[in-house]
Amino acid sequence: MLVLVINSGSSSLKYQVRDVAAGSVLTEGLIEKIGMGNGGDGDGEIEGPRDHAEALEQVDAAIHAELGDLELAAVGHRVVHGGERFAEPVLIDNEITRAIERLNPLAPLHNPANVLGIRAISKKWPDLPQVAVFDTAFHRTLPEHAWRYAVPDELYTNHGIRRYGFHGTSHEYVTHRAAALLDLPVEEFDGVIAHLGNGASVTAIRGGKSVDTSMGFTPLEGLVMGTRSGDLDPSILVFLGRQGWTPEDIDSMLNRESGLKGLAGNNDMRSVVEASESGDARAATALAVTSYRLAKYIGGYHVAVGGAKALVFTAGIGENSHQFRALVAAKLGALGIELDAGLNSQRSKEPRVISTAESAIPVLVVPTDEERAIAEATAAVVGSR
Ligand code: ADP
Repeated sequence: MLVLVINSGSSSLKYQVRDVAAGSVLTEGLIEKIGMGNGGDGDGEIEGPRDHAEALEQVDAAIHAELGDLELAAVGHRVVHGGERFAEPVLIDNEITRAIERLNPLAPLHNPANVLGIRAISKKWPDLPQVAVFDTAFHRTLPEHAWRYAVPDELYTNHGIRRYGFHGTSHEYVTHRAAALLDLPVEEFDGVIAHLGNGASVTAIRGGKSVDTSMGFTPLEGLVMGTRSGDLDPSILVFLGRQGWTPEDIDSMLNRESGLKGLAGNNDMRSVVEASESGDARAATALAVTSYRLAKYIGGYHVAVGGAKALVFTAGIGENSHQFRALVAAKLGALGIELDAGLNSQRSKEPRVISTAESAIPVLVVPTDEERAIAEATAAVVGSR
């Protein structure tokens, strides 16, 4: 079954055509600067499609040029926010599209773009089934004590303010692969998954289900990320507000100027590690703060899952930075965790164990693949119609 996987942002559209049975990518690409251009009229400075519909024409042309005639069976959309309603991938119809749109206030940058992508496809290929795969869905199993914030009830009932959690597609996919690597049925997998990319989150898994996760009402909460602060004392924001900072100033500072960038002046983990190795004190501090904060979460989630059977690293940093993994593991001695330096520094695209035989629990590196997970979920929904 050929599935077109779409990840549409406000000004960009990422796509992959996947053969689900073969697990392969036939072609992929990225259309940028949507809404900034003149649709290729040739008389403007900026090239770029006028809107998502025009971007989709470019996708169609690119797929056609690359693969010739082919029959797509379905489209799978990465949708960031599924609110409290969506716990699983769903077949999209008008009502579902409107439901995603009603969640716009919770994800003002993302859900409107998802809806534009969905509508553009319905218009171009009205008969093609579309499936929404939600970034929040895997975390719908959080118990109330994990998703409640200790603020007046009215904030939850009137504004939907609670922990939703994100990166769910990745955490779920990695949970299944980690369980398989350990030869455990997924229902028996208790562990801690650290998804460390530009955005980063850690999830506590009990019986194969998410029982706590570090991102919250938005993807800002939790770990120190590339440009996001993660956890901080909320009074800092009140203080800044009183100093005259606007909500936009604060939003931009926390989401775009903080994290590794704020601490080390660079949001790319590779550069921060290199700078630290060549003696840059700010970079060393940034790594110390970032790894310490993650280690604290891992300790907390070890308790939350009733004793983890594994610690799993994934995404850009988790899969590739043996230096960062070593920094984190060095702080986990109290849990009896011990990395094997040789296994940790080996490079591989395969799921693997990087801890010693003496380590109290195995530490794994499991590559994530959100597009693959979306394509498989889409095929499953369409296949079960
Ligand atoms: P996104 O959240 O945008 O999908 P990724 O999962 O691609 O992000 O992760 C990006 C991060 O991974 C960056 O901080 C980058 O420096 C880091 N990274 C990628 N490759 C390596 C590598 N070989 N060594 C260390 N860090 C890496």
